[in-house]
Amino acid sequence: CGIVGVLGNHEAAPLLVEALKRLEYRGYDSAGIATVNNGQLDRRRAVGKLVNLSDLLVHEPLAGKAGIGHTRWATHGAATVSNAHPHKAGPVAVVHNGIIENFRDLREQLAAAGYAQESQTDTETVALLVRQAMDAGAGPVEAARQTLKRLHGAFALCFLFDGQEDLLIAARKGSPLAIGHGTGEMFVGSDAIALAPMTDRITYLEEGDWAVITRAGAEIFDDHDRRANRAETRIQIDA
Ligand code: GLU
Repeated sequence: CGIVGVLGNHEAAPLLVEALKRLEYRGYDSAGIATVNNGQLDRRRAVGKLVNLSDLLVHEPLAGKAGIGHTRWATHGAATVSNAHPHKAGPVAVVHNGIIENFRDLREQLAAAGYAQESQTDTETVALLVRQAMDAGAGPVEAARQTLKRLHGAFALCFLFDGQEDLLIAARKGSPLAIGHGTGEMFVGSDAIALAPMTDRITYLEEGDWAVITRAGAEIFDDHDRRANRAETRIQIDA
């Protein structure tokens, strides 16, 4: 339901939770964040209000300056911790809005190849596809690119990778996604409102776009994987 991503110069967890709070108005049943710290991908998830995630983070903090976060409005799988996002498979974590319509077919193919799913969600299927591509030798960008080609439905996605503290991959197909530009920092949000405390400089992804984001900026590709120029705009939202 709500997606945020941070490649920052400060601790990501408080920024992610703050951004998720700004998306609360959209409704949600669970929430979670993942960060990469000292090269290591880790996550925390909680059912119910964001305060439950905040409380969990007090007792089990998550350090790191790169991260992704999500508020979930369950469509596939009950509102449980194991169905909450971010979903993780090997070296990748993903947050997802919307629905992967062909996930049952993909899930069967993955299971036949030895990639069993732990949750009931359509989202974990996406994480497993990326893992499978990386196991076959693809790097994160190529693995995400190949995976996106296999997905049907209306969705927005943001990926974070183990060992990669300066990389987010974001994709938009039927569900909005915005990139925020900071000074030596970059952000992702399903809604520019979420990014208002961090930046007012926004690039909206267009239908079918995907983006490779580092602190130096974003490279945006269209649905034919051609480099695309998307304008940066200034938004006016009260931070
Ligand atoms: N279909 C996904 C799920 O049920 C994402 C739902 C959402 O947009 O929050 O986990």
